Amino acid sequence: MAEYFDKADSTFILDCAGLARMASDPSERAQAATDAESAFMTLSHDLRLEILLALWDAPGFSLSFSELRKTVGERDSGSFTYHLSELQDHFVAKTDEGYELQYPGHRVLDAIQSGVFHEQVAVGPVELDEHCRSCGGRLTFTYDTDYIARIRCDDCGNRALEWPFDPGGIADRDDGAIVAAFDRRTRLVWSCALEGVCPFCAGRIDRELTTRVHEEGACIGVIEQLDRYDEYFARDHPAVVAVDCDRCSFYSFVPVGVVLLTRPAVTGRLHDAGLAVRETPLWDLGFVVDAGAVAVRETDPLCVEVSVVDAPESLAFTVEKSFEVIDETTAEM
Ligand SMILES: [Zn+2]
Ligand SMILES: [Zn+2]
Repeated sequence: MAEYFDKADSTFILDCAGLARMASDPSERAQAATDAESAFMTLSHDLRLEILLALWDAPGFSLSFSELRKTVGERDSGSFTYHLSELQDHFVAKTDEGYELQYPGHRVLDAIQSGVFHEQVAVGPVELDEHCRSCGGRLTFTYDTDYIARIRCDDCGNRALEWPFDPGGIADRDDGAIVAAFDRRTRLVWSCALEGVCPFCAGRIDRELTTRVHEEGACIGVIEQLDRYDEYFARDHPAVVAVDCDRCSFYSFVPVGVVLLTRPAVTGRLHDAGLAVRETPLWDLGFVVDAGAVAVRETDPLCVEVSVVDAPESLAFTVEKSFEVIDETTAEM
C-alpha cells in the first residue's frame, strides 16, 4: 500500500493529465518521460495554473481573451499571451468565443484538488461505532500527515485496516462523513484494481493471489523495508491479492475477502443471509479483516477459502487462482 503512495507523488499527475504512456521498451519509456517532463514544465508557472483555475471557475469552463486576462489580473499583455499560448492545444483550446479548458486541464486541477501535493491534514482519533474483532474495544479512525488513514483498536493495538486517503476527502466533511468517505473510496479503489483496471491511470492491472505475504523480496517485504511505513496491516493473513499496474506506479495488496464484494452472486447470497455488506464498513466485515477467516485450501494451483461467520447462517467461499469464486455451500456460483 505504501509504495504506491510514494511513487504517486511523481506519477499521479502525469497519468491524470494523460500525458505519457509508460512504454515497456526502455527507449520508448525515455521518450515518454521526456514528453511528460515537457508537459509538466508547461505547468511550471503560477500564471498558467491561474489561467486553468480561472477557466475552471467560469461558466462552461470558457472565457474570452479579455475576460480571462482580467480574471487572472495580468497587466502585461505580452506575458499573458505568451503563457496562454503555452497552454493552448493541450490544456486549453481556442474556440470562437475564447478559450476553453480541455480534459487534460481538468485532470491537472483534479489532481491538485485531491490535496496530495500541497496539503497535510490530521484528523482524530475519532471513536467509531464498530468494535475491535480481537478484544471488543472501540475502534478509532485517525488520519495523519503521512496520508494514511488508520482504523485501529487502542486497547489491544489491533490494526483493522489502513490505506492511503487524499486530503480532499477531509475537506467540507464532519468526522462521520470523513470515515464513511474513507470506507467508500477504499472499496472503490480495491474493486477497480481487482477488476484489472487501475483506479488511478486506467492502465492494466496484474492480479495475483499469493501466499508470499512475508517472503523476503516479495512486494510486502519491500514495502516494509521502507522505514516510514508500518507493517502491512493484513500481514497476518495467510494469503492476499497482489495488484500491480503495468502503466503507473500503483501496486498494492488487498485482503482476499474483498474479492467476495466484487461478485454480485456472493453479495446477494450474503444479503439473503442477513449480512448488509454495503452498509457495514470494511473494518466490521470479518471476512475482509480477520486473518482467521482466510485459509489456504490448495497450493497448486492456489485456492483460498474465505469464511463468513458474521451472518446468522455461516457461509464459505473459495477464491481460485483465476479469481473464480465458488460458493462452498452450493458448490456452484
Ligand atoms: Zn482490540
Ligand atoms: Zn495505473
